[in-house]
Amino acid sequence: MPDSQRGRDDLARWWASRPTNYYDATPNLARVLALRAGAERLRTMEPRLRDFGHAVAAVIEPAVATLERHREQPAHVAYDAIGRPIEAVEFHPAYRRAGQAVWASGMLAAPHDSRGAFELVGLFYLLSHVGEGGHACPVVCTAGLSRAVERRGSADLQALFMPRLRERDYDNCYRGSQFLTEVQGGSDVGANTARAVPAAGQLGAWRISGEKWFCSVADADLFAVTARPDGAPAGTRGLGCFLVPRSVDGVTPNGYRIRRLKDKLGTRVLASAEVDFDGALAWPIGPVDDGFRVAVEELLNTSRWLNAVGSTGIMRRAYLEASSFARHRSAFGRVVGSFPIVREHLAVMKAEEQAALASTVVVTALRAGLDDAGADAERAGADGAAVFRFLVNANKYLTSISATDVARRGIEVLGGNGTIEDFSPLPRLYRDAMVFESWEGTHNVLCAQVHRDCVRLGLLDEVLPWIRAELSSAGEGAGADGRTVAAAVEALEPRLRRSLADGEHAAAHFRRQLDRLMRAVQAACLLAEAAVEAADTGKAAAASLFVRRHLVPGHDPEDDADWRRLVDEALAGDAG
Ligand SMILES: Cc1cc2nc3c(=O)[nH]c(=O)nc-3n(C[C@H](O)[C@H](O)[C@H](O)COP(=O)(O)OP(=O)(O)OC[C@H]3O[C@@H](n4cnc5c(N)ncnc54)[C@H](O)[C@@H]3O)c2cc1C
Repeated sequence: MPDSQRGRDDLARWWASRPTNYYDATPNLARVLALRAGAERLRTMEPRLRDFGHAVAAVIEPAVATLERHREQPAHVAYDAIGRPIEAVEFHPAYRRAGQAVWASGMLAAPHDSRGAFELVGLFYLLSHVGEGGHACPVVCTAGLSRAVERRGSADLQALFMPRLRERDYDNCYRGSQFLTEVQGGSDVGANTARAVPAAGQLGAWRISGEKWFCSVADADLFAVTARPDGAPAGTRGLGCFLVPRSVDGVTPNGYRIRRLKDKLGTRVLASAEVDFDGALAWPIGPVDDGFRVAVEELLNTSRWLNAVGSTGIMRRAYLEASSFARHRSAFGRVVGSFPIVREHLAVMKAEEQAALASTVVVTALRAGLDDAGADAERAGADGAAVFRFLVNANKYLTSISATDVARRGIEVLGGNGTIEDFSPLPRLYRDAMVFESWEGTHNVLCAQVHRDCVRLGLLDEVLPWIRAELSSAGEGAGADGRTVAAAVEALEPRLRRSLADGEHAAAHFRRQLDRLMRAVQAACLLAEAAVEAADTGKAAAASLFVRRHLVPGHDPEDDADWRRLVDEALAGDAG
């Protein structure tokens, strides 16, 4: 057989070997959910996770690939055929096909409590195997808005909007979006200039005017918009959070105009626009003078939590593509995946993804606990509130950086083919991961937020004991790795405290320290998982690799007699 034919046959076998169900392809997801949500809860949601794992492979991935391959980006249609303003966004039919499968999974029907939190995470992790895919951002925005309306909205708002925010039928649902960012700043939301004035003759309603600069899901049915009531204080304190329906009569745009859709590096299938509001009718979500708190606690915290889930799903898909390719591709008469340097590279990808899933499911458990404790749990200082507040920001920061790194590593394993758009989803995953890094808070801004929270609320006093407790839940089995993590936390503590006590300059050091502390968090979570898993899952080896890479000062694999064994064991578990 000529070499060219052999090469093509290898690629054909690789394609044929790709998973037909992403839930079944990742037994680790079930193990982590069983540990953190409980075996019984996993049992009840597992059929839906499995069905959706198949839908992602069979329906959503081909639809998204079609959209990306043909550059089928959404188009802004300002007027209908006879010149009436409609401000519509048109998509290729494949977009709707994917959306129908996403909404049919029930991920937006999940209740805002511990039952719903874990199910949403499982389903969203699977969805993110296609990258953002045009629907991940709408899911996140809708979940956040639905949560805000349910927990903070008036009875009228709830009656009007909740049923369709929870709808499973894509063609009948309300999709949400959230517009905070303005042209003068995204990080500095307190600089918002959009205005809100009471609507004449409509009790409880307001009118919103001003520009919003980054408006993803511009085609949504309901927009959550931050705006400042006339006379309200400057800064974030003076912001209200309003619900603006796309149309009040079902046809005419509700006082807004789309300037243009943005042409983006990633998340290209998603419609992100610049939008001008001019007297749009709106209703406050919660008290008008509490708008920023509503935006942060309900919308942004949901987005940051789910952003981390999405980053983790991207990592897993990148690993699946790279590891299966490496098993099928040959070079210099050897299977690529047999070269030690490739094996190390894959083991690192796998450990990073498992660490990201570990910390993100823990964030989910914390949030679930708070939700079960009641709407005011955070303000009442319920158990876990401080740790959740810390981790929801710090975990988004770190997982989004890891996702880009892991997607880039995946492209490297595929060589030149890794850069080709229709060869694998990796170019798309890489681009989307880059966007995940900046939206919902840039790295510096999230680190600054964590720094501020630690200074103001003493979060470190809750977080450090929590890490130590997580480590001790791993028990004796964590062995030397457990001691290494404990020592790293010990060494970091005085440096963190110095950064909190010193001025602005020290905040720059805090980002590096936070990196390390989050690695300790992830390592502790991984070790706790490994403690209850069978040896052949490879989790203990993945945890050990992770600890050595990130937390052993001056670690050099060359001097590490266990390194090669750990790589092999980490790769042996969970084949994929
Ligand atoms: C594809 C895409 C879609 C988006 N969709 C939406 C949406 O639907 N709704 C929405 O409201 N927003 C959306 N955004 C906006 C996003 O949230 C902002 O881009 C983000 O918050 C950063 O704001 P900015 O771009 O204005 O950057 P800037 O705030 O201008 O930041 C510039 C740089 O300064 C740094 N910086 C800022 N403040 C500090 C500080 N205190 N300390 C140190 N460094 C600092 C930042 O880290 C960054 O590196 C979207 C963004 C993208 C890329």
